[in-house]
Amino acid sequence: MFSVEVIDKQYIGKNKILLKFNKPKGFEYAPGDYVFFEAKTKENEKIIRAYSIASFTHEDFLLFYITLVPAGKMSQVLQRLVVGDTINISEARQASYVDKIKKAVSDYKVTQIVLAAAGTGVAPFCPLVAWIREEYKDFPVVVLHQTSYSNEQVFRKDIEKHANYVGFVTRETDISGSKLRKGRIQDALSEFVNSRTYFLAVGPFDWVSSILDKARGIGAATI
Ligand SMILES: Cc1cc2nc3c(=O)[nH]c(=O)nc-3n(C[C@H](O)[C@H](O)[C@H](O)COP(=O)(O)OP(=O)(O)OC[C@H]3O[C@@H](n4cnc5c(N)ncnc54)[C@H](O)[C@@H]3O)c2cc1C
Repeated sequence: MFSVEVIDKQYIGKNKILLKFNKPKGFEYAPGDYVFFEAKTKENEKIIRAYSIASFTHEDFLLFYITLVPAGKMSQVLQRLVVGDTINISEARQASYVDKIKKAVSDYKVTQIVLAAAGTGVAPFCPLVAWIREEYKDFPVVVLHQTSYSNEQVFRKDIEKHANYVGFVTRETDISGSKLRKGRIQDALSEFVNSRTYFLAVGPFDWVSSILDKARGIGAATI
C-alpha cells in the first residue's frame, strides 16, 4: 500500500472528476494498469475499488478519471476529498492490455488497433496509446470515445499525439463546427473496424459486451 496525496481535483460536469496524486517513490506500472483505492466510509466500513491509471508512465504524478456514482460508497469518499488529503492505493495491478495487443499483432497479424471507450473508460487508453506508438511506430491506432457531452472528452489532445481520436456525443445537441460525431459508437462501428482489426473496449459492463459482440460480428479480433 502507498499513501498518496491529492495535488489536484477538477470537476468535469457534475459527476466526473480528474483526480491527481503525487506519484510515490518506487511506484511502477505498465500502460493500462489499475490500482485499488482503499478507504473508510463515514460509518467506518472499509471499502476497496479499482481505478485505471490515466497518466503517462513517465509523468511524476498519478491521474485518475472517475465517475461519481449516486450513493456510491467510494464515490462519496472521493467527493469529500480535497487537495492535501491522502488516500491509500495498492501497487499497480495488470490489466494485461499490453500483452493482448502484442499477441494480436504477432499471432493474429492485425493491421490496425481500435480502442473504444465509454465515459471514464477512456482512462487507461492515454498511457496505452503512447506505448503502442513507441512500440509499433506507424501502426494505425484509432480511439473511439463516446460520452454524453463534449466537455467529458478530457484526453482528446493527449490521445491525438499518438492516435486518431474520434469523439462521439450522445446527448449534446449542437455540435456544429466541432470534430465530434453525434450518436453511439456501435452505430458507426463498421466504418472503423474490419476483419484485420484488433478491437478493445472499456466502459460499463453491458456496453462493453454489446460492442464486443458487434465487433466480432464484423470479424475483428477481440482477445
Ligand atoms: C479494473 C477496473 C478499473 C476501473 N477503473 C475505473 C476508472 O478509471 N474510473 C471510474 O470511474 N471507475 C472505474 N472502475 C469502477 C470503480 O471500481 C467503481 O466500481 C465505481 O467507482 C463505483 O464505486 P462506488 O463505491 O462509488 O459505488 P458502489 O457503492 O460500489 O455502488 C453503488 C451503486 O452504483 C452502481 N454503479 C457502480 N458503478 C456505476 C457506474 N459506472 N454507473 C452507474 N452506476 C454504477 C452499483 O451497481 C451500485 O448499485 C473500475 C473498475 C474496475 C474493475
